[in-house]
Amino acid sequence: MMEDTFGRTITYLRLSVTDLCNYRCCYCMAPEGVEKTAHGAVCSLEELRDMTAAAVACGVRKVRITGGEPLVRRGIVELCRMVKEIPGVKELCLTTNGSLLGPLALPLREAGVDRLNISVDTLRPDRFRTITRLGELSQVWEGIQAAEAAGFSQLKLNCVLMGGVNDDEIKDFVNLTKTHPWQVRFIELMPMGVCAGWDRRTFLPVETVRERCSELEPVGTEGVASCYRLPGAAGTVGLIAPMSHVFCGDCSRIRITADGKLKPCLHSGEEIPLRGLTGADLVQAVRQGIARKPERHHLERRGGSEARRSMNEIGG
Ligand code: SAM
Ligand code: SF4
Repeated sequence: MMEDTFGRTITYLRLSVTDLCNYRCCYCMAPEGVEKTAHGAVCSLEELRDMTAAAVACGVRKVRITGGEPLVRRGIVELCRMVKEIPGVKELCLTTNGSLLGPLALPLREAGVDRLNISVDTLRPDRFRTITRLGELSQVWEGIQAAEAAGFSQLKLNCVLMGGVNDDEIKDFVNLTKTHPWQVRFIELMPMGVCAGWDRRTFLPVETVRERCSELEPVGTEGVASCYRLPGAAGTVGLIAPMSHVFCGDCSRIRITADGKLKPCLHSGEEIPLRGLTGADLVQAVRQGIARKPERHHLERRGGSEARRSMNEIGG
């Protein structure tokens, strides 16, 4: 186990496997998407595996695969298998927009993925198309069904809450938990990349969910989420508040980008290059990165995130 300079134990790696995506969510990507990174700029599956193993040597036990959209990466199932086979990896999770899950849910399960988070910001097909620019909501529902059929229980559905965009659907999302054993998670929009300059009213605190659904009863916390349940409901509601509550004091995370840079914090510009390093040198570079984790972010300040990259590059 390794502690950073502020006494936090680092156990959780978010591994971005591509910055490409088949959607162009309005708050995450520009309409034209991202330029395909020059061939060779994105790490090979083996490099990503070795970087993960180095993080595990420093105490990481939980790995989340993310992106861009991780399921557009060629070899994603194989990569999941490779990561799960690293001794010391206790939990392998993946965050996806769900669009390609239909055919991939079972192979991912068989490769050792333990948990899935599926992002869906609206339950209305026309609005879904507006928010994602390219998405088809029915494909996400097929993905969710395929995930359940493949044996993924306790699915988490991520909804980024945006004032004037989808906050009129809070109750519809919460009602999903009455019959489905899912955790519907509302996440505060963070001012990064394309949404950094958006009208302040779009950045709605997740407390709004409790104000509008007074029947929700607190049932504890799970990682960074405060959890609630409607009386008698099958599932739960999670509220994630990076803006209105700073949870940096408990942060256990590091991140690795698809081009092989270790990011000690989502919102700092600091990056430690890992490519080309092997063995003890690679482990030492990860150690250095952990030691450079800042005490907290300053998202609430004017200027917001200091990350020089947008979410599709870092993976959220
Ligand atoms: N493509 C996958 C997906 O959408 O789930 C994985 C990558 S995406 C960057 C990971 C998560 O970050 C998604 O739930 C997305 O909605 C969220 N996200 C992206 N930009 C965000 C922002 N500015 N503030 C808060 N969440 C954001
Ligand atoms: Fe793609 Fe996920 Fe960003 Fe949407 S949030 S554009 S699905 S990476």
